[in-house]
Amino acid sequence: MTVMEHLLATANKTGLGLEDPCFAQEMDRADPLARLRSEFAIPTINQATGRDAVDGNDPCVYLCGNSLGLMPKQARRILNEEMDEWAARGVVGHFRHSKGRPWVGYRSHIVEKMAPIVGAEPIEVGVMNTLTTNLHLLLAAFYRPTDQRYKILIESKAFPSDHYAVESQIKWHGRPEDALLLAEPRPGERTLRTEDILSLIAREGSSIAVVMLSGVQYYTGQVFEMDRITAAAKAAGCMVGWDVTHAAGNVPLSLHDWDVDFACWCSYKYLNSGPGGISCFFVHERYAHDADLRRLTGWWGHDAESRFDMTNQFVPGAGAAGFEVSNTPILISATLLGSLDVFSQTSMAELRDKSILLTTYLEHLLQTRIGDRVEIITPSKHRGAQLSLLFASEVFEHVFSALMDAGVVCDERKPNCIRLAPAPLYNTFSDVWRAVDTIYAALASVDANDLPKCAAPCAVIGFAESA
Ligand SMILES: *Cc1c(COP(=O)(O)O)cnc(C)c1O
Repeated sequence: MTVMEHLLATANKTGLGLEDPCFAQEMDRADPLARLRSEFAIPTINQATGRDAVDGNDPCVYLCGNSLGLMPKQARRILNEEMDEWAARGVVGHFRHSKGRPWVGYRSHIVEKMAPIVGAEPIEVGVMNTLTTNLHLLLAAFYRPTDQRYKILIESKAFPSDHYAVESQIKWHGRPEDALLLAEPRPGERTLRTEDILSLIAREGSSIAVVMLSGVQYYTGQVFEMDRITAAAKAAGCMVGWDVTHAAGNVPLSLHDWDVDFACWCSYKYLNSGPGGISCFFVHERYAHDADLRRLTGWWGHDAESRFDMTNQFVPGAGAAGFEVSNTPILISATLLGSLDVFSQTSMAELRDKSILLTTYLEHLLQTRIGDRVEIITPSKHRGAQLSLLFASEVFEHVFSALMDAGVVCDERKPNCIRLAPAPLYNTFSDVWRAVDTIYAALASVDANDLPKCAAPCAVIGFAESA
């Protein structure tokens, strides 16, 4: 059964049209992951809008988990536990810990829960720094330009930080400007075709040192065919790194099985670790015992058994641990650990099932209620939780401020893109309905005549629930 057939079957069974808000409530009642929403602090409409309206105490519609995930209540709990530990034990907390999480080995609690989310073996996952810093550290190890093979392939519209990191690595190695190889969509198209990436690799492969694309494109929401691209690039003799920042916690990944060389991701987007949260990275198991792999080092990458011997003879720890530089920042690791506790209650497969239902429903409502007033640039086949919407410039600001004023938290990317990302951990089908209804009303207030009429709503949708 396709996803749309599943939605239609529910509609049939309940006798409700998909455009009916009661249908969204039915989907929420039948959602096996609905219980996870209560694990999160959901801002109220007043909190989200900065107003003080009498009816503003209902939860807002938060569709910005692709930018900063909501706070898992467990994050605060574990952070407080570490603060208490610090207060009660000071330095001793590194080795003795009342909750069984001595700080010296803190990374292992994160690694164990993070590995299944990205399809890695625990030995392949490390925890340190923030994302862009890790891109540099990984490129320091994996970008080994020679006169023959010196290029790095990225997207022409890569996230600016990735672009700058790669560009500056090239300059830092004193390589020529043509080392920055940009994959561009075809004229008139907005997303990259896999076949075009593959033929670029086939054409340029022998001069490419590293292929470094993003798993999910932050602007368009496109999911790249990571397995096929990795295989082609490896066959051409390139190193393959993925920035899976928008993919981790969003779509299932198999970094190990795809044979990726390295990857990194921040944890504050779909992984809900909090603003500026700690980043994680992946180094394939085949390098786990490769002590000759050149890298930038610090004491925390030293083999844990002999780290405190202070010999100044660097012996790398096995796997990704051998790439860590400084001691683990416990306070920001605590919030990530809290979030991973929530992920441990489900699986990426279950989350993906719900995510596909949510985005298919969102797409359907946009098509039926907003029609050609919106252009969805996210591909329908290869996508994660996010839909990127373009509006005509005359109505764009009006639609965006109507959403934010109604407590539908989303973001705008100039000049005219709004990104909506229902996150399966905490978003509901009713959230999706409310977002589209708000867009509908905003456009109707600009120009009612152009719009298809909405099916009669059955009743005012109720959102009474505790935040
Ligand atoms: C969010 C994001 C960043 C942000 O980088 P930081 O180093 O965490 O500030 C970089 N690249 C991509 C692809 C992102 O999605």
